[in-house]
Amino acid sequence: MSYRVYFLTLGCKVNSYETAAIAKLLADEGFVETQEPENADVYVVNTCAVTGEADRKSRQMIRKARRVAPAAIVVAMGCHTQMCRDEEGADIVVGTDDRPALVPQLLEKLHIRGEREKAQDLDAGTRFFEYGSVPYQENTRAVIKIEDGCNNFCTYCIIPYARGRVRSREREAILSEIRDSAKEGYREFVITGIHLCSFEKEKGRDSLALGELLDEISGIEGVERIRLGSLEPSCMTKELISMLKRNSKICPHFHLSLQSGSDSVLKRMNRKYDTVLFRRVVSDLREAFPNASLTTDMICGFPGETEEEHRESCALAEEVRFTHIHVFPYSRRDGTKAAAMGGQITNEVKNRRTSELRAISDRMEEERTGDFAGKDVEVLVEKVREDGLVEGYCREYVRFLASTTEEAAQGDILVGKVTGNDGFVLTGEGFTHLRG
Ligand code: SF4
Repeated sequence: MSYRVYFLTLGCKVNSYETAAIAKLLADEGFVETQEPENADVYVVNTCAVTGEADRKSRQMIRKARRVAPAAIVVAMGCHTQMCRDEEGADIVVGTDDRPALVPQLLEKLHIRGEREKAQDLDAGTRFFEYGSVPYQENTRAVIKIEDGCNNFCTYCIIPYARGRVRSREREAILSEIRDSAKEGYREFVITGIHLCSFEKEKGRDSLALGELLDEISGIEGVERIRLGSLEPSCMTKELISMLKRNSKICPHFHLSLQSGSDSVLKRMNRKYDTVLFRRVVSDLREAFPNASLTTDMICGFPGETEEEHRESCALAEEVRFTHIHVFPYSRRDGTKAAAMGGQITNEVKNRRTSELRAISDRMEEERTGDFAGKDVEVLVEKVREDGLVEGYCREYVRFLASTTEEAAQGDILVGKVTGNDGFVLTGEGFTHLRG
C-alpha cells in the first residue's frame, strides 16, 4: 500500500529545498505526494522561525493540519520546531539537522518497519546531511543547496541556534546533482545555502572556495547560467570578484545583504563589515559587471535605531541604487542578544520606517527598469503564453515579456533588444534563439 503525503512549506528557499529532499526520501520508501491535504495519510509542516510572525504562522499551520486531516500523522519539522520541540498537535517533531530522522520515525508509526530498524543517529550538527539529487526547482531554475548553518551570530538572528554551525556539502555531490539536473534540461542553477560565502569554511578555506566551486559548475555541459543566493559583503574580496568576472556563466545579479546603512547599527547587529567596506564591494562589482542588478535585505527599527541612523540607511540605499530591497521591520526573537537590548522600537515607528524604505526601493526599481531601454538582453523562457508572448527572466533577474519570430519553448534562451517596460516588467519584440 502507498501512503499519501502532503507538504506545507513556510519560509525560505532552503526550506523549500529541504521539503523536496524529504519528499524524495519518502518517495524512495514508496510514499506518494498528494495535493489534497484532507486525503493525506501523512501531513508534513515545514516550519520557519525567521520572525515572530513566522513562529505564529508555524504553530497555526500545525493546528490547521490536525483539523484538515484528523486521521493523518502530522509531522512538524524545520527552524521553528528546532527552537520549540514540544510543539503540541504534531505526532512527530524534528528540527533542522535531524529532519531526515522523521523517515524512520514515520515508518515505525505506520508499522512498515519492524523493531530492528530504529531511528538512526544522524550525527546531528556536525556534517552536511546528503540528500542526493533533489528535484526542487523554480520554473526553469534548479535550486542547489551547497552549505548549511552559520557561525556569525548576528545579534538579531536565531539561525545559528536553529541550524547550528557551518557545514558544507561535498563538492562531488553538488556537481553530481547539477550534472543530473542539466541532463534533465535545466539551464539555470541557483546556488543556495544559509551562509554561502562560508562554503568549506570548516575546512579552513576562505571565500575563494566558493569561486572554485562555481568554476567547476560552469564546466558542466548544459549549464548556461549560475545565479548566486545571498552573499555577505565581507566575503566579497577583490580576488573572489575577479573569479566571478572570469566565469561567463555567472549572472550579473548579486544579493548583497546590507541590513543597515548605519555603522553604529551594523556594530550593534554584530555584522562583520561597515559601510566603507560595503561601498568598496559595490564599486568592485559594478566595475566587473557594469549592468549588474544589486538587491539586498534591510531591517528597520533595530533596537536603539535613531531617526538619524534610519536616515543613514535610506541615504546609502539611494546611493547604491539597489534594484530591489527586501525591507523587514525588526522582529524580536527570544534567545538572541538583540531581544535583550534596551531601546526596543515601537511597532508604529518600525512600520513607518519600513514604508519609507520600501517607497525608496519601489522608486529605484522603476528607475532601474528604465535603464534597460535599448539594451540587448538574454531571456530564459519560463512560459509561452496562449497569445504567443514568452515570459521569463533576463540574466540581471528582471522579469521579461517578449514576442518572438521563432517557435519557442520553456527552457529556451532568446535574445533581443529591450523596447519598453510595463512597471517592473521589461518588454521586447522579435526575439530570436541565442543559438541554433
Ligand atoms: S549571517 Fe547573520 S543573519 Fe545571516 S544566518 Fe548568519 S547569523 Fe543569521
